[in-house]
Amino acid sequence: MRCPFCDAEDTKVIDTRVSSEGFQVRRRRQCLSCNERFTTFEQPEITMPTIIKSNGIKQPFNEEKIRAGMLRALEKRSIGTEQVDNAINRIKTKLRSSKLKEIPSNLIGKMVMEELENLDPVAYIRFASVYLSFKNLKDFSKEISKLEKQM
Ligand SMILES: [Zn+2]
Repeated sequence: MRCPFCDAEDTKVIDTRVSSEGFQVRRRRQCLSCNERFTTFEQPEITMPTIIKSNGIKQPFNEEKIRAGMLRALEKRSIGTEQVDNAINRIKTKLRSSKLKEIPSNLIGKMVMEELENLDPVAYIRFASVYLSFKNLKDFSKEISKLEKQM
């Protein structure tokens, strides 16, 4: 790799570290000409599948959108951001390992519902009521009794 300071071609790696999560390698390099030091980062380039909405419109995968939806459902519930992050990471891992290039948005919705079901029953019902767009009270109580049976 070229030196960003003097453009010399030869730089050597003087230190290599793997980030705490293990997904990134950080290398400390030194230029053989000017002795300046700099850091490079290396991480896998992984593309997430494209999301296809029910109306057929394609959208790039948007982690923040998923997080926003989950946090809205979890409002005033005592679930930490770490648990939300873990849930989102599980969803991302599932999507990556599916190796699909395109994924319908309702499948993402189902994955979020599964995660919320494990995290917090109230948040699950909140999310489900929007996501499944409950038409009436009957739909709503059906979903609640389903939950009660699992408890
Ligand atoms: Zn240099």
